[in-house]
Amino acid sequence: MTESTKYLLSEDRMPKAWYNLAADLPGPVPPPVHPGTGQPMGPEDLAPLFPMGVLEQEASTERWIDIPEPVRDVYRLWRPSPLVRARRLEAALDTPAKIFFKYEGVSPAGSHKPNSAVAQAFYNKQEGVKRLVTETGAGQWGSSLAFAGNLFGLTVEVYMVRISFNQKPYRRALMETYGATCIPSPSPNTAAGRAILETNPDSNGSLGIAISEAVELAASRDDTKYALGSVLNHVCLHQTVIGEEAMLQMEIADADPDIVIGCVGGGSNFAGLAFPYMREKMNGKAVRCIGVEPTSCPTLTKGPMAYDFGDTGKLTPLMKMHTLGSNFMPPGTHAGGLRYHGMAPMVSQAMEHGLMEARAYQQTECFAAAVQFAREEGIVPAPESSHAIKAVIDEALRCKAEGKAETILFNLSGHGHFDMQAYMDYFAGKMTDTPFDDAALQASLETLPKVAV
Ligand SMILES: *Cc1c(COP(=O)(O)O)cnc(C)c1O
Repeated sequence: MTESTKYLLSEDRMPKAWYNLAADLPGPVPPPVHPGTGQPMGPEDLAPLFPMGVLEQEASTERWIDIPEPVRDVYRLWRPSPLVRARRLEAALDTPAKIFFKYEGVSPAGSHKPNSAVAQAFYNKQEGVKRLVTETGAGQWGSSLAFAGNLFGLTVEVYMVRISFNQKPYRRALMETYGATCIPSPSPNTAAGRAILETNPDSNGSLGIAISEAVELAASRDDTKYALGSVLNHVCLHQTVIGEEAMLQMEIADADPDIVIGCVGGGSNFAGLAFPYMREKMNGKAVRCIGVEPTSCPTLTKGPMAYDFGDTGKLTPLMKMHTLGSNFMPPGTHAGGLRYHGMAPMVSQAMEHGLMEARAYQQTECFAAAVQFAREEGIVPAPESSHAIKAVIDEALRCKAEGKAETILFNLSGHGHFDMQAYMDYFAGKMTDTPFDDAALQASLETLPKVAV
């Protein structure tokens, strides 16, 4: 009998509920607070921006939240995603460790992000919303929301940072293929955009500016809402379908992870795989959960826990999280999805309660790991996912040195087919590792909002 490589779950075994870590954490997840008053903000305060269905989840402490049937229907286009045993990588590393990965690159948009985009589109549709506005950097979130919004008959407008809009025409074409409109930001469509364009007509834009534009539009019309692709509690919740599936598939593989690994930008794909395992950890299971970030944007490894703005424009409520300060501008690296100054409040709490550990790597060592992975397993990883792979290889080599046959499970959050320029730069020797600027971090942390909470 040959041993299996893929562990597939039939559609009828796809999880029927998302798992909410807030139900089991030893302490509450601190609520968002108003930047002016320091008062906690509840669902009513955020209702102009998000539908109630989503805001109830944001504040919920229920352990299990049913996945609505129309959402499961869309999930069935690619879910359950495969669990794969990386046998060739194991052999190449000559490690006694077993390596498994959950592959989220099989979604239509090529990453884990549609798991939340589909749910958010559903709740908006259910509450009569006609139009969704969002921002996107490199385009992963924009294309996921474009895909999801189209399926629920919603108009989707994506404000894409102008420099990415010009440099990444394929992601824009993907959004347009799904029927969305993709607008370079700053744009003349909003007061925020016009203010920037007046002083700097050639502005490259930034995620902060694009968020300001999207939020302004969502707040100004009753039929329009805003959607965010990571960080918030409801996004982490929606992603747990990954970990719940993985648990069933690991059972089929007759294996149990000693280590669970994911890359962390805003924290959602890591949360999706790791939160269900953290539940087991709180129930006594011995499992290490490791979040991996770039050394250029070391939110968990160098950022303190503090109340901070979610955006550079300082328009959002304050969230209690590990943060580098909303003024912190990480150098331009290829893993655009990991260049966020803050970390999901729920992931930050998991860190505080000792449920996880964090580490950081340079981008060139991550690309070396990604190329090794591609040459053994065939899949070309997204630059973001390469951070998880670097940690997996290091842990597998530690197992080899210690003669331990541990089981490692990681989230391969997406494929890199739209990121081939990054691979070209890597092969051309043009990719560099910028030393981290501790002085810039200190300066940024000095501008953290001072709120008494
Ligand atoms: C957006 C993205 C990430 C980072 O976001 P998280 O919320 O931390 O998951 C990681 N991998 C891929 C492929 C992405 O598109």
